[in-house]
Amino acid sequence: MKYISGKILTKEGFQKGYLKINENKIIEVEKGISPSRPIVKGLILPTLINMHTHIGDSFIKDRGVPLPRNIEELVAPPGGIKHKLLKEASEKEIITGIKKSIDVMKRNGTKIFCDFRENGISGIQQLKKALESSRISPVILSRPSNLYYNKKEMDLLLENSDGIGLSSISDWDYSEIIKVAKHVKNKKKFFAIHASERVREDIDSILDLKPDFLIHMIKAYESDLIRVKENNIPIVVCTRANSFFGLRPNLDLMKKLGVNILFGTDNAMLVAPNILEEINFVINNFKTFKKSELLFKISYEPRKALNLDCNILSPNSKAEFVVVDEKTLKPLYVSA
Ligand SMILES: [Zn+2]
Repeated sequence: MKYISGKILTKEGFQKGYLKINENKIIEVEKGISPSRPIVKGLILPTLINMHTHIGDSFIKDRGVPLPRNIEELVAPPGGIKHKLLKEASEKEIITGIKKSIDVMKRNGTKIFCDFRENGISGIQQLKKALESSRISPVILSRPSNLYYNKKEMDLLLENSDGIGLSSISDWDYSEIIKVAKHVKNKKKFFAIHASERVREDIDSILDLKPDFLIHMIKAYESDLIRVKENNIPIVVCTRANSFFGLRPNLDLMKKLGVNILFGTDNAMLVAPNILEEINFVINNFKTFKKSELLFKISYEPRKALNLDCNILSPNSKAEFVVVDEKTLKPLYVSA
């Protein structure tokens, strides 16, 4: 038996107390002081969820090449530098990069990450190879290998992934993207897309795609955000990656309008997929949320958005938690 004590993040908020664990199982969750010396003290959180990554481009960070602070030049398909580098890189180099990012996520207690997988079916296979027997689980949002609809390829992608994650409506011919989105919905899988990141994009065209969640919405008008809120669509923001391009989401306005804001880390070539560092950045650069609200937004709230079980940190549940330092949010202990 082991004891972990501190403040436990429950569905009702923080509660002072302790966990008693045996091997991989939580035996007790109690208020008060632990009966035996705890192995670690701190904020006890359910394992974390990173709602937006592109870990396929991790290898680019290791190349040390200077990257332009311009979204179109760097990441827009098909001509962006990232896509050129992905095409010419060997599979071994890409997988080595992905594994490094997976290690970063494991060390900070991330259990699930929503990865936008470029490069069609081979992109999916690379991620699966890199994961091997890892206990970290991806929600794989794959992507057609070209900017047009191909029924056969879509069937194959959806058989092998959890859905589709696209760059933006600006990169696509709308008549093609709507076919992709409809196909995903017919198969009852996730559809997500970057929206209004560097320019404002038409909200009706975006909502007609029936997205499960949107990424960014930095240039969205207030009226666009209201429509998103009315449709109950979460917006995933990635503040550190945005700041690389000199961009900043309007979290105050999104919160005021009642938008469900979640967090991701975006391109691994720009920032490490460390969701706790992302939250620290938000604490230091925005005054929108209290720390406890932010920790909810990387644990319980994304689980709800992904229709996952929120019954964690309760007696008889699997020991899936991370203990972090209350001040710095540095991970002190990650359950096996
Ligand atoms: Zn992205």
